[in-house]
Amino acid sequence: MSKELASIKGQFPSLRDGGVVYLDTAATAQMPDRVLDRLVGFETSGRGNVHDGGHRLAQRAFDQYEAARGSVARFLGVCANDEIVFSYGATGAINLACFTLGRLFVPGDEIVLSVLEHHSNIVPWQRLAQERGLVLRFIPATPKGRLDLSFLGDLVTPRCRLVAVTHCSNVTGAVTQLAPIVSAARAVGALVLVDGAQRVPHGPVDIPALGVDLYAFSGHKAYGPTGIGVLWARREVLAGLEPFMSGGQMIENVTLENATFLPPPQRFEAGTPPIAQAIGLGAALDWMLGLDWSVQREREAELTEALLDGLDRLPGVRPIGPRTLVLRQGVVSFTAEGICDETLCRELDRRGVAVRSGHLCAQPAMSALGVASVTRASLGCYSEAADVEAFLNALSEIIRERGRRA
Ligand code: PMP
Repeated sequence: MSKELASIKGQFPSLRDGGVVYLDTAATAQMPDRVLDRLVGFETSGRGNVHDGGHRLAQRAFDQYEAARGSVARFLGVCANDEIVFSYGATGAINLACFTLGRLFVPGDEIVLSVLEHHSNIVPWQRLAQERGLVLRFIPATPKGRLDLSFLGDLVTPRCRLVAVTHCSNVTGAVTQLAPIVSAARAVGALVLVDGAQRVPHGPVDIPALGVDLYAFSGHKAYGPTGIGVLWARREVLAGLEPFMSGGQMIENVTLENATFLPPPQRFEAGTPPIAQAIGLGAALDWMLGLDWSVQREREAELTEALLDGLDRLPGVRPIGPRTLVLRQGVVSFTAEGICDETLCRELDRRGVAVRSGHLCAQPAMSALGVASVTRASLGCYSEAADVEAFLNALSEIIRERGRRA
């Protein structure tokens, strides 16, 4: 183990005793000391509400909450803190976008999604389409689990208002080439929303270079707390949207008949927000910004190759997703002949290895890839060769035992 990696894993209390081989970061990442300390610090010496002011604890809470917005902006490479809206997870962020943008759409307008989306980037749009008479179109998948962009010209028509796609598939690990999507959308005046839930844990994002209009992600997959997420949107986009939820903390003036609203981002943060969680997320993203991402990416590629290679060698095991390290992250799903995924997951857990199985909240992706369910091993910045080895040994043992019993 390299010194740097030892020092990364050593910063995670839930991992440093080696009690579990954790290969489920795509579901949720563990939290480093830095984030836990910040959460405890807030709760013990800075707890107050953010918009009430009036005393020093409230002021401190407000300052930390707004500083966290700045951390998100730095992580995404954007300058404007008022483009950062805190929400409840990626799901909350996408729903926020769906409900607010949706009000601008009229019957017959089209939204383009992909068949590889997580349910959180399909179901809200489906419900919106049903309510407002919109048309949904889907970018298909290649057999290797990438978005098949060869149909883009046909799918993104002049009626298209929005293209909403994942930055990285939570099933296949494929990273989406956003440039052709952005140019197709631009050509017809449509917006592009990107679900970054699986991309953000793998390093800082350069939003201006991507050229997209909205970007959503979750805190808990990015080494931060649960219950917090982010919707970034260009200032002009946010400025044209009505509130999503309403109540306290988002109003300018209220009479018995009417209310006026604060500008973004407060307009979209009704009620007391998840303050500690936002501060924790800011700490997590600051912590991530302190890592050497060229080293991290190289290591992730090596470990992904080791995972794919190891799975290729096991009898009856079929890895899903691209067999290349280009535009591919360490999210590796597979099936094992004759073993149901749920059983496999439990058997791996009995051997101290944590992975996830099932449809991964991506049933249309499962259909497109011709599987009912999968088992998924996913890497985090603390993953190491010994984790991959332990996983492959455990899997090989399970397969051998099955073979003997058959
Ligand atoms: N999008 C993708 C690609 C995901 O993997 C997930 C989480 N599995 C989500 C969205 C939803 O994230 P959350 O449950 O944190 O809202």
